[in-house]
Formats: sequence, C-alpha cells, structure tokens
Amino acid sequence: MPKSKKHNEKKSERIKIFYEGVEEKDVKLLVNHTRITVQNLNIPVQIEDAEKLWSENLKDEIFERLARIRVFKWNEFEIQNFVSPVEIQFERRKAEEKIKSFGIVYEGFLLQGIFLSAISGRIDEKRDFPVVITDRQIATFGDDGRFHLRVAVLGLPSIVSKSGLFSAPAKPKEYHIAKFISEDVALVKGYSIKERVERKFYSLGRPYVILAYLWLKEGVGFCENPICFFSDSHTIEELFTSKSGKIKLCDFHSRAILPSYKRKKLF
Ligand SMILES: [Zn+2]
Repeated sequence: MPKSKKHNEKKSERIKIFYEGVEEKDVKLLVNHTRITVQNLNIPVQIEDAEKLWSENLKDEIFERLARIRVFKWNEFEIQNFVSPVEIQFERRKAEEKIKSFGIVYEGFLLQGIFLSAISGRIDEKRDFPVVITDRQIATFGDDGRFHLRVAVLGLPSIVSKSGLFSAPAKPKEYHIAKFISEDVALVKGYSIKERVERKFYSLGRPYVILAYLWLKEGVGFCENPICFFSDSHTIEELFTSKSGKIKLCDFHSRAILPSYKRKKLF
C-alpha cells in the first residue's frame, strides 16, 4: 500500500554525503552513479543529495585542530603542539574554498574526528551513514610502521579522498620508466594519468561510498581480491579494472551484499 511504503521509505537508511574542495558537478555525478549501482546491487540504502561540509561562522578552534594533524614525516607522527595563526588562517581559507591544499597530508583517523564535529547536528545517528568527499590527501599508519596515502578511511564518517584516487595507488611501470628518463616526461605522463582518474571519478569513487554503509552496518570492508569492485586497489590498473566497466564481486562481497533473507537460506 502506498501509505505504508512511504512510511518505510521515510525510515530507511541513508548514505549522507558531505563534500569540500571538490566541484559540485563531480560530486553530483558520483551521487547519481552510486545511486544506480546501489539499486543494481540491491543494497537497501538511499543516497541523499550531497551537502557542503563546512557551515558558515565557524570558530578558529576547528581550523586549529586541522592544522595540528598534518603529517610531516612518513615514519612517525606527532600532533603539532604549536600552530601559527597563518596556518589556522590557511585552513579557514581552504574551508571557505578560497584556496586549494596541494601537498598537505592529514592523518586520516584524526581527520575523521574533526569532520565528525563539522557534521554534528546534521546527521541522524539511527539512520545516516555519513561520508565526506574531500580533495585533501589522507594517510594512515601501515603495518610496516610508515604512513601510506589512502583513497578512503572507513568509519564515522568515512572519508573519500578524490586526490587519493590518483596519489595512493602505485603508478604504471611506464610512469616510473619515464621518471627514470626525465622528470619532465614523468610529469606529463603523471598528468595524463591524473586526468584519466579525475574524468572517471563518478565511477571509481562508487565502491568507497558504498563501503561507508557496508562497513558501519555489517563490518564489511575492503578485500584483497584485485578484481573485486570493493578491493583496496594498490595500482592504477587495478583501480580501473575493478571499479569501472562491468562490476565483478568476489565471493565474500557478493554474499555480504545479498539481502539478509537470502543470506539466511544460504547458510
Ligand atoms: Zn571483494
């Protein structure tokens, strides 16, 4: 009946997307494509239209926190005790979209905490699965005791880094050969890869957004199977093979996204 359906829809779970530093049209395209993918995969979650991350009239405190969590060394991390007014101002101007933050890397888990403060009051904890799409570079400590750039950090909220899609996975062999020959050739090569990644953002970004839901809801994260849509791609080639074109799922992920009534029959 229409009435009860409407009631159900009202209560259904939602992926709520916030964004900063990424163009609205790119986010919209990603939202639309992720919506279609979620429907095709039969995942029972709605995707809300994206909102800007930063509200107006914010106090300096949140920008100071951002400036403190920059990563300066790849093998150790310290929260910066002293940050200058210039750095705080820089963060404010970035949030106001007056500047871009090339080359700055932020500690991913601490960034989650700051983003959570930025969206507090705008999410319904019972039904919203928040994702922040950003142009910031994010890194977290790896098992090898070094920081690694990441495309995404899953959690509350999940963070998806548009620039991470290019910078986190390893580049193709030709890129490194080009680098060996000349920095200029490598730069051109790198630029064309970056352009290719950015053009396909609407497709490549989808699994990271969907995992924001699967991770908080079911504890389902990335997999190591390089062809799976939900894999943590280690190279640019793997990124394109697994996340654009026809969707392929490993056994684990195809079982994980099956509706629960079907899953019960299986086990
Ligand atoms: Zn998988």
